[in-house]
Amino acid sequence: MLNLLFPKVCNGCSKMLQSTENVICTSCRHQLPLACHHRSGNQGMKKIFYGRIPLENATSLLLFQKKGITQQLLHNLKYRGQQEIGAFLGKWLGSELAEHPDFKGIDLVIPVPLHRKKRRIRGYNQVSRFAVEIAKKLEADYSEGILLKRTGTRSQVFKNRLTRSQTDQIFELRDTELLKGKHILLVDDIVTTGATLENCALQLIKNGDVRLSFATMAMA
Ligand SMILES: [Zn+2]
Repeated sequence: MLNLLFPKVCNGCSKMLQSTENVICTSCRHQLPLACHHRSGNQGMKKIFYGRIPLENATSLLLFQKKGITQQLLHNLKYRGQQEIGAFLGKWLGSELAEHPDFKGIDLVIPVPLHRKKRRIRGYNQVSRFAVEIAKKLEADYSEGILLKRTGTRSQVFKNRLTRSQTDQIFELRDTELLKGKHILLVDDIVTTGATLENCALQLIKNGDVRLSFATMAMA
């Protein structure tokens, strides 16, 4: 009855979902452009960070294309409260990584944080459920409070790539003891220039004896 009143629609194409479908329809799912760098030696995404930070592994589930299904999914996740998209993508990527030797030794999964003001306005960090599901699949710990974003930034919608300077993204760590000797998987929604992940990673490296890997929902 609830479904008749509030039919679930596909987060990719907005068509009504069948009872067997969840989050996106089968057709959209088959059309999703996959990145899946873990299937081919992690090189695709790792290249972004060459010479910037030492990384164990880096992978992204999807490719981001303007006006594509990935963009639609991320938009619905971030701005329309569709948090189940994050969980869906997290279960998917997590299952793949759990089968992969490179990602077997992950101890701790940390999502890139939102500034608390922004989090209050949005009501959630769009990366949280993605990160939680990956941690479950990898049987790793999950921590949301250890890495914090200190300064507020305006929505990225109003900024272009060039003005997103590193200085307006300042992160800090709360508990460095917890990190010692750990292999950490840092998780974000989308990687473009890599500046956000790099800034987070620099904090983790500076304050702890850690090994780092990255995973994102999409790569632009
Ligand atoms: Zn669809």
